[in-house]
Amino acid sequence: MNDYKKTIGIEVHVELKTNTKMFSSSINGFGITANHNITPIDLGYPGTLPLINQKGVELAIRAATVLNCKINKTMHFDRKNYFYPDLPKGYQITQARTPIGVDGYIMINTENGEKKIRIHDIHIEEDTAKSLHQEGHSYLDFNRAGVPLVEIVTEPDMNSDTEAMAYLEKLRELLLYANVSDCKMEEGSMRCDVNVSVSKTEQLGVRAEIKNIGSIHNVGLAINAEAKRQIELLENHQEIIEDTRRYDEKNNQTILMRVKETGNDYRYFPEPDIPYLTLTEEFIKKVQSELPVMPDERRKTYLEKGISKVNADKIIQNRDLSDYLLNFPTLNLVIASNLLLGDISSYLNKNNISLANTKLTKENFTQVVEKLEKGELSSKNVKDILNDLMEKSIPLEEILVSNNIQNISDVSLLREIVLNIIKANEASVKDYKEGKDRALKYLMGQIMKETKGSANPSVVNQILIDELTKL
Ligand code: ADP
Ligand code: MG
Repeated sequence: MNDYKKTIGIEVHVELKTNTKMFSSSINGFGITANHNITPIDLGYPGTLPLINQKGVELAIRAATVLNCKINKTMHFDRKNYFYPDLPKGYQITQARTPIGVDGYIMINTENGEKKIRIHDIHIEEDTAKSLHQEGHSYLDFNRAGVPLVEIVTEPDMNSDTEAMAYLEKLRELLLYANVSDCKMEEGSMRCDVNVSVSKTEQLGVRAEIKNIGSIHNVGLAINAEAKRQIELLENHQEIIEDTRRYDEKNNQTILMRVKETGNDYRYFPEPDIPYLTLTEEFIKKVQSELPVMPDERRKTYLEKGISKVNADKIIQNRDLSDYLLNFPTLNLVIASNLLLGDISSYLNKNNISLANTKLTKENFTQVVEKLEKGELSSKNVKDILNDLMEKSIPLEEILVSNNIQNISDVSLLREIVLNIIKANEASVKDYKEGKDRALKYLMGQIMKETKGSANPSVVNQILIDELTKL
């Protein structure tokens, strides 16, 4: 059974984060009362004329750019003709011949290192209505009809469930950072169709398309279930028919929906109601210049600055934290990221708020990180002042005073205390001289006790070693 190679190609639909629909002025929103966001254009009534949403085109350019695609400067839209209850106007406006982006790729991490997944194309289209099947009735919500989408189609370049999942995670990360879509699979703003085939030779096998899988995790399960079904068929000398299936989570199997329709059945032709669209170089450049620093570049910086791979990934998964760090290019990022992922994240989770809704000032954040670095604050100190730090936009010094954290950094004062402790602990000094490291810790402890924990530990350490070597 293991000599079969799996091949996977993925088609992803994502809804674009525009205010209005792709070709009309109805609101593009989620969770609004059914059938309250419709114009005659969304329903394709006779006599209506669609108008291209510029923001939709801009977001599609962003997506094409982060997927490393070539951008088609002259485009037109096409009608894909079919009837279905969610598309009573009988055609969907899409881009069949002149997709906005072609020949792209993204890099994913696999157990054998980086792998390039080629993007065949990315095209703009309008969404259809949403059908709801309940208790023997079917309902249609046309709020979704005409919502702008991009469809992103890969080449059949993935060979396992983990590669497919890694591709989807990476795609999601890119589109989220590019502010193209909110990519919520549970709300349907990101939807995946997965094509699977198996073969023992270099020639690809006949594929099945599994439609609309509900989560990235289920994509992995669906691929394995479908490959298993195909291998069993082949092993029993049965033919695989190119069909469209869905994944049944309960029984972990794919179920036939319909035998596949081909491109010819759709009678694609240029949409006659929308003129050709020409994108100027300036327009494309301007849109591209609005892209934020993308995750791979951030990851590279984090690793260069000494952040662990695990923490780098954690920060990137939390866009707010990652964006926040961009404010502090010269700060010690290891300490800053530990602070954000540790105490600050716990605070945010506990209080269920975002960083932007706290009173934490950039000055205080900077100073806390610097003081942690210099040893002027301990991590215990930070825990003690955390609530104040997040809830008061007053200077750090005031927060420290009101929490009784007065770090003694005055060298002459500290030297006096150190000398007293040395005098009072001759036995430990002798132990230290004989190479017992524990003695140093003990002496440090005595000094911290004497100063009630308010001495700057790194300064004390330095003075103590100074004085001990003089003896
Ligand atoms: P359609 O017109 O039916 O959508 P496409 O040729 O556009 O078909 O391919 C759709 C997806 O199927 C692409 O992601 C492509 O990589 C993938 N695909 C094509 N052939 C195979 C195959 N034999 N096995 C797995 N995936 C395939
Ligand atoms: Mg397709």
